[in-house]
Amino acid sequence: MIVLLLGLASGFETAANDHLELKWMRDSEEFSALTTQVFLQAEQSVRTQARGRQRQPWTVVVDIDETLLDNTPYFLEMAAYDRPFDWPSWDAWCARGTAEPVPGAQAFVSAVRDAGGRVAFVSNRHERTRDVTVENLMAAGMWTAEDRMCLLTDDDSYTKRERRRQLRDGDGTCGWGEPVSVFAYAGDTMADLPEADEDGGRWEQLGVRTFVLPNPAYGKWEHGVTRPGLIVTDGVD
Ligand SMILES: [Mg+2]
Repeated sequence: MIVLLLGLASGFETAANDHLELKWMRDSEEFSALTTQVFLQAEQSVRTQARGRQRQPWTVVVDIDETLLDNTPYFLEMAAYDRPFDWPSWDAWCARGTAEPVPGAQAFVSAVRDAGGRVAFVSNRHERTRDVTVENLMAAGMWTAEDRMCLLTDDDSYTKRERRRQLRDGDGTCGWGEPVSVFAYAGDTMADLPEADEDGGRWEQLGVRTFVLPNPAYGKWEHGVTRPGLIVTDGVD
């Protein structure tokens, strides 16, 4: 048994060394400092916007994976077993409920509540993982019953635009039943942020109402060049 565990441990170590992006996210002080820095800037902006607006409902819209929760153990395991991402293994990982907060995330969520704001989690985790995701967020100190969680359903597209609209307008399954202002959007992919013609745009609001977390492990950039000015993308988030 000990031999087996040692074998697995060294397998993870090898996987981490073969996947420097995962090692950087897990082991470097810089990754931790960067995510903390982004969340601190978001907190500062939210507190400024909240001043004198306590009667008006407001929220922050946050992605979950690689924004609030760190799933690098899952990706490391898959790498150790030389397996690509697939939904069954991902759902099984979600069901473990052991993902830990990204550095700075928990403090940000607490600060939002402290400043009188609500929290809306908009994630492309599937709806079937709702209960285990709530449990994981609760264990990580980031969930209350007043929150909204808008996950992917079979009828949904991967784009989060409609779910963000429902939150702002206060209708549909995502909304609170009343319109709310969004003081901040945060995510590790640009698709977590409003599109160019939506709520002020993502690039226009960077560092003020839109905040990007570093994720060198996966993203749309894996399959092409998404940096603006270098190539015309297909326009699909
Ligand atoms: Mg994410």
